[in-house]
Amino acid sequence: MTQSFSQLSLSPLLERAVAEMGYENMTPIQAQAIPVVLQGRDVMGAAQTGTGKTAAFTLPLLQRMMKHDNASTSPARHPVRALVLLPTRELADQVAEQVRLYAKYTNLRSTVVFGGMDMKPQTAELKKGVEVLVATPGRLLDHIEAKNCVLNQVEYVVLDEADRMLDIGFLPDLQRILSFLPRQRTTLLFSATFSPEIKRLANSYLQDPVTIEVARSNATASTVEQHFYRVDDDDKRPVLKQILKERGLKQAFVFVNSKLGCARLARSLEREGLNTTALHGDKSQDERLKALEAFKSGAVDLLVCTDVAARGLDIKDVPAVFNFDIPFNAEDYVHRIGRTGRAGASGLAVSFVSGRDARLMGDLEKLLGKKLELEALELEADKRPAGRFNDGQRAWQQPDAGREERDIRESRGSRPERESRAPVGRPARAPRAPADPLFDKPYESSLAAEVTPAWESAQKQPTSRVSPNIKTRKKLPALFKSAPTPEPENG
Ligand code: AMP
Repeated sequence: MTQSFSQLSLSPLLERAVAEMGYENMTPIQAQAIPVVLQGRDVMGAAQTGTGKTAAFTLPLLQRMMKHDNASTSPARHPVRALVLLPTRELADQVAEQVRLYAKYTNLRSTVVFGGMDMKPQTAELKKGVEVLVATPGRLLDHIEAKNCVLNQVEYVVLDEADRMLDIGFLPDLQRILSFLPRQRTTLLFSATFSPEIKRLANSYLQDPVTIEVARSNATASTVEQHFYRVDDDDKRPVLKQILKERGLKQAFVFVNSKLGCARLARSLEREGLNTTALHGDKSQDERLKALEAFKSGAVDLLVCTDVAARGLDIKDVPAVFNFDIPFNAEDYVHRIGRTGRAGASGLAVSFVSGRDARLMGDLEKLLGKKLELEALELEADKRPAGRFNDGQRAWQQPDAGREERDIRESRGSRPERESRAPVGRPARAPRAPADPLFDKPYESSLAAEVTPAWESAQKQPTSRVSPNIKTRKKLPALFKSAPTPEPENG
């Protein structure tokens, strides 16, 4: 049963902001979480991004803080009362923007602090006094140490994307931050999964929480059309271009597993005339925000990104998501394809599966609880990269191909990207010199606006050898049988 916001008896100032955003009915996470938070209970919530979870915690917190609403200019009258912690800068920025919009008719102030930006403007904002502080853990600790903010009046804490914060290695930072807060407070924890680590975190910091689970973390939206194509590594780029063109796709996310792979792919696509930008953790904060803005505004057609950089970003109406690499963590698949098919719109999720991905696909099948059909897709004849393998002679049939793959994986680093505060894993081996010296340079997007995507304006291509559409449908295990034993994940 749909429930409308009017049933909540929110302050008219908040109701007005909600109405202005065009929302009448609550999403399931909102319908379940808002009344509980209004009662002052702790919450442990499992909800996918795109479910409306930001409003689910922001609105009741603002409502409860309305008793402190005052127009005084004195910073002392605006102490930090709510702290929202997130793993990445982009997410923090996005949540802060939503908080600002929901609080716009109140006198409650909010700001955001994250790393990679000058501390001075953030310090000035903090010194003016803010009721809602949105932050990434590392930069918040910097501000605490610099005595730019005092957290002894905090009444509400939100740990958003908590699983990802633990993945990144933020646990010690979180523990330190939480040690500065009053014990008497409301704590809300949102996570894609309730892993044992998350449960331990909740046991330590939440009091008698209400558990809310609106959609299983492994659920993928039914509005997303999902395809898994068997594609050799060397063919992934031409296949990507072919699908973009055939489907007439205007914009897409393209996910890769490593920062270096992300920069390389973005650079290659850009060189091939596609209007592309990259989003990964090695880019400066300014570059990341610009890349995001360019994609959001439609100035850029393809956003090539890594998981950490893109997790939870609220970019709506992306018609397609490509998994150029199958994610190392199966759960990231759910997050990735959550970028498309949002709010009931239909979306397309295409994953490229190479012979080495058998184990990752197995993990994915386990998580999604269903068999995944692996489809074959024929590449148009002239699209195969020059000097590559002939048809029928796949990468893994070349005598040295396996070694090349391993080398590439090692030079990329075999682990998913980590933010700067992440604990250092095993030392990486010296990277192999890339074949193309351009790959040594950091990626720079031209961000040039194009009216039509390059793949649409490209000249008509000769017809494919065989129809480019899906050819055969075989069960996944059957197809993997012909592939060699997959390389171990860590090379
Ligand atoms: P979130 O999961 O918080 O990232 O929200 C995903 C998107 O849903 C955001 O663009 C929100 O603005 C939007 N949204 C939040 N609440 C509602 C609602 N009740 N109805 C429709 N859209 C909403």
